[in-house]
Amino acid sequence: MSSIPAGVNPPLRILMGPGPSDVHPRVLAALARPTVGHLDPYYLQLMDQMQGMLRQVFRTQNELTFAVSGTGSAGQEATVMNLVEPGDAVVVGVNGVFGGRLAEMARRAGAEVTCVKRPWGEVFAADDFKDALASAQPKVVALVLAETSTGAWQPIEEISQLVHDAGAMLLVDAVTALGGIPVEVDRWNIDAVYAGTQKCLSCPPGLAPVSFSARAVKTIMNRKTKVHSWYLDVSLLASYWGEDRVYHHTAPINMTYALHEALRLVLEEGLDECFARHKLHHEALAAGLDALNIPYTAEPECRLPQLNAVRVPDGIHDARLRRRLLEEFGIEIGGGLGDFQGKVWRIGLMGHAARSKNVLLLLGALEQLLAEEGYLFDHGASIAAANQRWSQAGQ
Ligand SMILES: *Cc1c(COP(=O)(O)O)cnc(C)c1O
Repeated sequence: MSSIPAGVNPPLRILMGPGPSDVHPRVLAALARPTVGHLDPYYLQLMDQMQGMLRQVFRTQNELTFAVSGTGSAGQEATVMNLVEPGDAVVVGVNGVFGGRLAEMARRAGAEVTCVKRPWGEVFAADDFKDALASAQPKVVALVLAETSTGAWQPIEEISQLVHDAGAMLLVDAVTALGGIPVEVDRWNIDAVYAGTQKCLSCPPGLAPVSFSARAVKTIMNRKTKVHSWYLDVSLLASYWGEDRVYHHTAPINMTYALHEALRLVLEEGLDECFARHKLHHEALAAGLDALNIPYTAEPECRLPQLNAVRVPDGIHDARLRRRLLEEFGIEIGGGLGDFQGKVWRIGLMGHAARSKNVLLLLGALEQLLAEEGYLFDHGASIAAANQRWSQAGQ
């Protein structure tokens, strides 16, 4: 006898990991609206509006700004595969998992890749790229603005200057950055940028906002070889997102509704206000973690507000504590990746999840679980420290 599984009824979680993060209820409601065709006049109007809103959050005038169908990695692949041709020299800054992924994608695109490295948790100074720029003479330099594996916030502007002085283009990973910290595509002269929906945009995973400078578009349109990936070929995608509306693939209609609503939310709040909210709740969380003697992995001057990577306290079993947080409190935080596996927790305060009630709940839950696991600390101090930060801000 065949049986039908029960319907989907997921538990209500509080998503405070490295993504996906909590989805705003208005975004969930948008997802459930009736599906229309991908060439329906209503849908085409939403696409235009979405491109306009994406230009605002990327702070760019770039004509070629749209959302790739797929998660952040699809945006990553789209920027790399379109800009790079076999034999091109590419320099990648690697100080965590996602820099490593950029290098791997560039290699698969046939590039001669030079990795400039920094220890995990650190960021690059412009000088770090001088030698590689001189010796490799790259076409593209790729960097991660918000390295989600380490919680490090990479300054872009000075490096961009150096990259352009050397005649190269700058490609930036803004997956965890967009909506959490400034992404100044035009001011920083970024040639190609990609992001994701499920980090600081309070939206489920499924689309990857991207933007290309005029120079990048010219490079792509003048390629000597065809882009290896048909699906991610920007010259074809541009005909659907441009005025011609040439069918390429069926757009994920309902995800477009979701991202449209998520972008409206960010713009209603105001980008600067949104960044300030992430910063404030990060500072409250940091004060609380400090009271628990839980140190950050990144230096204070380069800590991302939206991704708090901290050392697992001595004597505490990483996986067990995270499992108890999930089972007993419904809170998801992330474990460490790669070199940081088992040693680091990654606490996300992304988008809709960046709220005082989440910080308070997490600190309270951590205090209870750490006490039960025999960790010694000053009880109640973390919550008092967080509250002090909010009251300084008049909240
Ligand atoms: C999450 C993430 C990605 C990959 O995005 P997916 O949506 O998981 O495909 C790439 N870069 C960074 C910095 C990320 O945080």
